[in-house]
Amino acid sequence: TAGKKKESHKANFEIDLPDAKIGEVVTRFPPEPSGYLHIGHAKAALLNQYFAQAYKGKLIIRFDDTNPSKEKEEFQDSILEDLSLLGIKGDRVTYSSDYFQQMYDMCIQLIKEGGAYCDDTPTEKMREERMDGIASARRDRSVEENLKIFTEEMKNGTEEGLKNCVRAKIDYAAPNKTLRDPVIYRCNLTPHHRTGDTWKVYPTYDFCVPIVDSVEGVTHALRTIEYRDRNVQYDWMLNALHLRKVHIWDFARVNFVRTLLSKRKLQWMVDKGLVENWDDPRFPTVRGVRRRGMTVEGLRNFVLSQGPSRNVINLEWNLIWAFNKKVIDPVAPRHTAVVDPVKLHIEGAPETPKTEMKPKHKKNPAVGEKKVIFYQNVVIDKEDAASLETDEEVTLMDWGNVIITKRHPDGSLEGKLHLEGDFKKTKHKLTWLADTEDVVPVDLVDFDHLINKDRLEEGESFEDFLTPQTEFETKAIADLNVKHMKVGDIIQFERKGYYRLDSLPKDGKPYIFFTIPDGKSVNRYGA
Ligand code: ATP
Ligand code: MG
Ligand code: MG
Repeated sequence: TAGKKKESHKANFEIDLPDAKIGEVVTRFPPEPSGYLHIGHAKAALLNQYFAQAYKGKLIIRFDDTNPSKEKEEFQDSILEDLSLLGIKGDRVTYSSDYFQQMYDMCIQLIKEGGAYCDDTPTEKMREERMDGIASARRDRSVEENLKIFTEEMKNGTEEGLKNCVRAKIDYAAPNKTLRDPVIYRCNLTPHHRTGDTWKVYPTYDFCVPIVDSVEGVTHALRTIEYRDRNVQYDWMLNALHLRKVHIWDFARVNFVRTLLSKRKLQWMVDKGLVENWDDPRFPTVRGVRRRGMTVEGLRNFVLSQGPSRNVINLEWNLIWAFNKKVIDPVAPRHTAVVDPVKLHIEGAPETPKTEMKPKHKKNPAVGEKKVIFYQNVVIDKEDAASLETDEEVTLMDWGNVIITKRHPDGSLEGKLHLEGDFKKTKHKLTWLADTEDVVPVDLVDFDHLINKDRLEEGESFEDFLTPQTEFETKAIADLNVKHMKVGDIIQFERKGYYRLDSLPKDGKPYIFFTIPDGKSVNRYGA
């Protein structure tokens, strides 16, 4: 049962890494600085940290920056910031680009030993040959010719060099297609954000990762499961280069329904203006979900609860938000907001506004106190007002009972204070605000998923499944205590839900609050 489950702040798995010795384990998290960190990356990073700590070993944060066309300093900085926000600090921060010379030398060595060749087969033809298991016409070029092309033409990015790539000579007809002579070096004339125009040839992921893992002393390389076919290839590289072996350990990628986690697709949405930026509250980035009201603790608890499961799953967002709710509910101050205010005049209530201090959270006095104004003129939500009957006894929350005596033609209500009334017997418990100048205009903003299909099938393009409207704004007024809030503060508007203050009033806009999903209710737009 739920009560018997392990505490959520602990990882709910105890799996041993193969051949792992206390004090000797080295793991690494290797983001490519080509976008902002998303929830999937957070899982990978936290898992690597978890194993490094569990074995009192070391964690390397490695920027896998081998493709100058996609990478930027901006992304690198944001990744480090987001990692530190998640409480992840590597023992070392390294860069694949620091090994460019070493990898270049190793490619020469591999060519000399007959393990690689230069190939100028046109891309499309090469793809077909690989599909069909056909040897490239260039496979048997001599070592001399290969060396010349790699170290003179490719290295200098000449016209001839640009036509070529280097391929590992593994097995062009292998049943495992990743072994069909994978590309290990390519020309690229785009300047690199760290090494500038020093290099015009860059190693591919397949060549770079095993080398750098081995050279940096990584003992256990955690990779997502789709790379499993590549494991043999990884081992082949280490063997061919006479490098120390590394254990590969696979774990499942996380996916969420109606959500894209590919940096390329997220970048597309940013470029198209479908979202404001990478920290958009509709984005599954660490920044996006934080802005939506996810706490670091909620995110960590979620990731650790997932553990290193190997089933690729399409998770419901409710799951992660439920972890967050457990974190915020005990500490979120309670406030009041009213949508479409309807006046209620209460006979017997104070004729001039009377302010009292009340707890911000009934079960947690440490959260502090807030001002509540009691007054004969109050406002309630229009939706609530419409549901009341004349002569009905209702409860005004944190005040007492009121008997509704009359409804005016304009919809406003008359009532009579009835403090002796029993709140347990009333059907309607209403949130309310004193109708004074002190109320604060606010916008309550809710969001829908950017994609309107749970799971895209093979061949389906996400561009065909974009949700037409994903942002929903509701005008409201809130209690005066809102004026003491800071951007990022998380509260509950009673009976409405949890909200995070996203911005203070500016440019004619009021306080803007984002709805925080609570993991229970399917959001009201059917998500
Ligand atoms: P993207 O498709 O978003 O660009 P990627 O795998 O190319 O993802 P990298 O920056 O190379 O992005 O990833 C860094 C690490 O994060 C890798 O070890 C990768 O396996 C892991 N990772 C990426 N996406 C996920 C995911 N959805 N779930 C778990 N781990 C992930
Ligand atoms: Mg990658
Ligand atoms: Mg990817």
